[in-house]
Amino acid sequence: MNQSRLQKYAELIVKCGLNVKKGQEVFIRCGLDQPEFVATVTEECYKAGAERVKVEWSYMPVSKLHYNYRSLESLSEFTNVEKAEWDRKLEKIPCQLWLDSDDPDGLSGTDSDKISRANQARFPFIKPYREALENKYQWCIAAVPGKEWANKVFPELSDEKAIEKLWENILNCSRVYSDNDPVKDWENHNQNLAKRCKFFNEHKFVKLEYKSANGTDFTVGLNSKGRFAGGGETTLGSNIYFNPNIPSEEVFTSPMRGVADGLVVATKPLSYQGKLIENFSVRFENGKAVEVKAEKNQDLLEKMISMDEGAAYLGEVALIAYDSPINNTGILFYNTLFDENASCHLALGRGFNECLEGYENMSVEEIQKAGINNSMIHVDFMIGSADMSIVGVKKDGTRVQIFKNGNWAI
Ligand code: ZN
Repeated sequence: MNQSRLQKYAELIVKCGLNVKKGQEVFIRCGLDQPEFVATVTEECYKAGAERVKVEWSYMPVSKLHYNYRSLESLSEFTNVEKAEWDRKLEKIPCQLWLDSDDPDGLSGTDSDKISRANQARFPFIKPYREALENKYQWCIAAVPGKEWANKVFPELSDEKAIEKLWENILNCSRVYSDNDPVKDWENHNQNLAKRCKFFNEHKFVKLEYKSANGTDFTVGLNSKGRFAGGGETTLGSNIYFNPNIPSEEVFTSPMRGVADGLVVATKPLSYQGKLIENFSVRFENGKAVEVKAEKNQDLLEKMISMDEGAAYLGEVALIAYDSPINNTGILFYNTLFDENASCHLALGRGFNECLEGYENMSVEEIQKAGINNSMIHVDFMIGSADMSIVGVKKDGTRVQIFKNGNWAI
């Protein structure tokens, strides 16, 4: 890939994604796939005034060995070294960057039950840190191509060509072209997303009605205290504007738990636990997924919605134009950062606390009582189509066309 384009991408991540400020620490998590790019990003962080950049490399085959050979007890341990690292994070509040290049099937062949039990056992130690740091630091997830990932997306190409093509698509979707100023383009993009959030937050729709010729005929209730978000966010306290996802196309909220009725037909396959659920639909009654049908892997879909009580309820409603840079690639990326930004989607499972007004001063129980769903899963699935219509309905019955023929009508 052309070095000047990669340079612009690194600048976009550091200036617009993290928005690194003078004197801050930066923590980068990444794989071994693109070390030169990690070096470019590291240098950009220092140029932006970072005090210290720490890179934590990982290599999936080694992570897999840890999961396979270590006992549950060993994996569950929260060590003194980890504690010291978390204490330092609390003290320094570093920016956190994750450069994702993971093989979508990288963990196949590991005992997922053992991993989730170890995570559950460690959670009580990590939870107080997470809560103390929540919304206070700048973070960003962006992607770089890994060999296995590229091969999965472009199985017909050689390793080298697949990686090059994945780079090309990652950069295009992130609005990094050879002839533009991506940081500037993202400022405009963020303004557009913010305008749309404002539109929803002012109109206070009580429900959204979806219709498409593929059979989707569905209504979802919105929370009267809910708010829409999208694009950049601002840290609590330090008030620094940053972009947690590059790319990001969605305007989203958490719907009112218990209010969703009708049929939604998925428009893209869903990659779940390393398998593809294809040509599927979900029927809702009183907010709950009561019936699922899939041409492929229906049993997996059934298992997914019965993981726990909240797994059959919705946690997210996201609106994205059908004519979006990601959807226009026509590629299934097998990676949520890209696939969820390709088209209108819903997510089953956990909702977002920050989509509820006043959540900062509420307990977890109060937040759930106010209609934000809770679950151990949060799985996005795509429902946007070229002819999709979405109408917002207000409390007094006023109807506003929000999407027409798959794209924004507002
Ligand atoms: Zn989403």
